[in-house]
Amino acid sequence: MNSNIKVNPIQNSRIDSVDFNNLPFGKVFSDHMFVCDYKDGKWQNPTIEAYGPIELNPSAKIFHYGQSIFEGMKAYKDAKGTTLLFRPLDNCKRLNKSAERMAIPQLPEGIFMDGLKKLLEIDNAWIPTKEGSSLYIRPFIFATGNGFHASPSNEYKFIIATAPSGAYFAGKVKVLIEEKYARAANGGVGFAKAGGNYAAQFYPTQLAIERGYNQVIWTDDTNHEYIEEAGAMNIFVRINDTLITSPISDRILDGITRKSILQIAKDSGLQVEERKITVTEIIEAAKNGNLKELFGAGTAAVISPISGFGFKGVDYDLPELENSYASQLKKKITDLQTNKTEDPYGWRVHL
Ligand SMILES: *Cc1c(COP(=O)(O)O)cnc(C)c1O
Repeated sequence: MNSNIKVNPIQNSRIDSVDFNNLPFGKVFSDHMFVCDYKDGKWQNPTIEAYGPIELNPSAKIFHYGQSIFEGMKAYKDAKGTTLLFRPLDNCKRLNKSAERMAIPQLPEGIFMDGLKKLLEIDNAWIPTKEGSSLYIRPFIFATGNGFHASPSNEYKFIIATAPSGAYFAGKVKVLIEEKYARAANGGVGFAKAGGNYAAQFYPTQLAIERGYNQVIWTDDTNHEYIEEAGAMNIFVRINDTLITSPISDRILDGITRKSILQIAKDSGLQVEERKITVTEIIEAAKNGNLKELFGAGTAAVISPISGFGFKGVDYDLPELENSYASQLKKKITDLQTNKTEDPYGWRVHL
């Protein structure tokens, strides 16, 4: 498949203009992007070309009906300079799950994996080596077919763009448990990384920010009784010494960080539960001192600790812990991702 990729390399690299010691997150883009178009009922021969603007017709379906899905992953370099990926096939499989739900054609794994590998080979110098930094990778598919008719597009574009990024540091996050809005509904698209899911989160998140919080803890759409996700991350709760996370459903995104943390925590001898968590249980635990930690988990920040939360006008603080589960698990997963420890799971892919 690799041989089918037509490479149009750029003339002058922009890499010298980038300060790799002060990288923002997802704002500086590597020289090239991988592009594969879908038309006439099939995926066409892909290209690797300069990262840059794409031309679309105003009637392109992406603008009107939002057929758009994406993935988020990272490439690292170990001490020897080997390029490493973390469970990349899981991202490809999840992209295809999102595609199915949004009536977007399935993308062959070969196009995804070969395109990714070739792109990382060509833009290898863009993969940061500094501790905590990585190359953030954004594969996405969107509808490019034209027409105002509300029906699935017959043309799509698959792109992989990459951004050398510094550690995603959110600071100590204060969250608001949502009582009115919902991120996802039964039978809906919450499990998919579909663009519109994130657009729909922005307004409730803005309202929470106006009230002095950083993020929203999403609750179920029926009664706002159960906690489900933390912003665009999966949520973990530690009550006494038990680590709990909400089970996957069609309202919850099946995070690769989430499932990796669950496995690592179990194998480290921690008590782990995958079950529904009520808001009431969290409030009670906070009141009687059993609520030790709350954190979000996702590729960008890996683990993002929560310092406190608000619910029905009352603020609850979490204790400052030394050697928290969040910090222990973050170290374990990043050591595994960056080849500082053995990988008993076969999750790491060396390019
Ligand atoms: C991407 C995402 C996550 C985290 O998934 P990872 O595979 O761990 O990056 C969690 N929740 C939502 C809503 C997401 O979009």
